[in-house]
Amino acid sequence: MTTPDRKEMANTIVNDPTSYKVCLVCGAIVDKAVDSCPDCLAYRFDENAAHVADVALDMAVRPQTAVSHLDMSNAAD
Ligand SMILES: [Zn+2]
Repeated sequence: MTTPDRKEMANTIVNDPTSYKVCLVCGAIVDKAVDSCPDCLAYRFDENAAHVADVALDMAVRPQTAVSHLDMSNAAD
């Protein structure tokens, strides 16, 4: 089983969208406490709760390829 708990993660975010923000460069959802995106090091975010929830829902149903780079780094380890 290599499937990440993206649905569970998405549920967490949807239930508490004000604790997160969306990176405007790569679209990643990150904790609101961080200053720069851990994926692309950008520092511009959309903190609109409705948008965060929307992106989280999209993430839950998106095909695996969207985060393939994460899976590849795991596999190479
Ligand atoms: Zn980013």
